[in-house]
Formats: sequence, C-alpha cells, structure tokens
Amino acid sequence: MNAHCTKLHLFMDGELSEVEAEGFRHHLPRCPACESGLRDLLQLELLAARALTTGAEQPAPRAEGNVVTLGAWVRRNARVVAPLAMAASLCAVMVPRMMPVADVPAVVFLENQPTRELEARLSHPRADQWRRYSPMRGGTDVAEAQQPLPLRPLAEMEERKDFRGIVAAYVLHGQWQQAQAVLAREPASLARDNDLAVVALHEGRPQAALELLDAVVRAEPRHAQALWNRGLALHALKQDARAARDFDQVASLGEPGWSDEARNLAQQLRGAAAP
Ligand SMILES: [Zn+2]
Repeated sequence: MNAHCTKLHLFMDGELSEVEAEGFRHHLPRCPACESGLRDLLQLELLAARALTTGAEQPAPRAEGNVVTLGAWVRRNARVVAPLAMAASLCAVMVPRMMPVADVPAVVFLENQPTRELEARLSHPRADQWRRYSPMRGGTDVAEAQQPLPLRPLAEMEERKDFRGIVAAYVLHGQWQQAQAVLAREPASLARDNDLAVVALHEGRPQAALELLDAVVRAEPRHAQALWNRGLALHALKQDARAARDFDQVASLGEPGWSDEARNLAQQLRGAAAP
C-alpha cells in the first residue's frame, strides 16, 4: 500500500493528470491490490452496463453514457451493483450468452488514424491493418494523450478473454506494462509469442525477439507478422542481409500495403548491406 493505491478510483475515472496517471500505470503491475481492485471495478462497470441494457430498474446514467459517467454511477449505486456482480458470477455460464456481439470502437485499435506509429506488427487483425508508417514526433505519447483508451471495451474484451485485442489496445496506446501483464498470464500461442516479440523490440531486446520469432516461423513459415517482426529484429542486430530475406518473404505474401512496404524495406536493407 502506498500513495498510488489511493488513486485507483481517480485513475478509473480519468481524473488524474497525465503525470499521475503514468505513475499509476507504472505502479499497477507491481501492486496485486490495485490490479485486482481495478479488475473488480472493470467487472462492476461491465455488469452495470449489462444490467442497464437488460432493463434493470435503476435510473440509467446520463445520455453520454461513457465510462467516466458509468464509473461514478457504479460507486453511487454500489449496494445495488454488488449483488448483481455476485449473481452474475453464480451464473457464469449464462453471462457470455448475454453479451452482445462485440462492437469494439475504432479508437481502441487506432483505426481512425491515417498513419501508424508502430513499426512492428501485432497479432490482432484489427491492429494489423496497413497504414503508412509515420514514427511519432519527439517520442512523446501524443497518440495516447489525444486518444484515451476507453475502459469499457477493454473490460468487454477481458470478459471474452480476447487477449490479442487487449494486448493490441494497450500497445497501441503506449501502455506497454499493461500489455506485458496480460501477456504474462495468457496461455501460450504463436500469436502471443509474436506480441511478446513486439514488446521485446520496443524494449530494445532484439535478441529475445529473434528467439521468439524463430520459433513462430519454424512452426508457421508463412506467418506474416512474425516474418516482418523478425526482419526488424535482425536489422536491429545488424544482420541486414537476413532481414532483407524476411521482408522479401513478407512481400511475396501479397498483403495490400504490407507487401509494398516490405519490398521497399528489403531494397533499402540490401543497399545498406552492399559494400
Ligand atoms: Zn497499489
């Protein structure tokens, strides 16, 4: 328990300054109390949202209906919501069927952006749509500041155990530690290893990324994201000739956008590798 632990509700409501929120995000993966507290709050918000759409008697939150409003509403109505949460956990089998088909808003995967800031490729299909690569100016979290990650879709993906979606959302919004926390507790898969490699690349551990990606490509030789990311890892390790071969492979897969960018990268890498 420290000063951060008292800020969970403020964090949840988006009432912390950018600096305080960053501090809290840093604190979160290290504090089991806050992490489980946050999970409980998300769960309550989700259940409250569900109760509202299934005709509960409580007055609905105001029309804007966003997570901030809902968060405040949940706490004002904690006594009403808590039994709901308990009831839902007792009929866990029923809950998934009550969930409406996921409609994750575009902002979660930054699909509303004209360019992409992440050079690497994530496993989630909606986070892997090609846009021209345009690294962020000055290395600040501009996108995160302008495009806050809405918590409700995150909670819904959590409910569905959509690990790929949650990891992609955190990474795209610059919340790398949160992404790592999810990666650490999800079951093994090639898609997870690809995303783990994206994190390793971000942290300047290309050798670790390479090892993960070698295994993915061995298992699935035409794995586009893993080939692409392995090209980035090899380039970081100054093995440009090998990197170029991986980008050639991606180019040959013929994915719109990615194919052309891969071809250009391979050419550049060959140019740099030539004596
Ligand atoms: Zn804490």
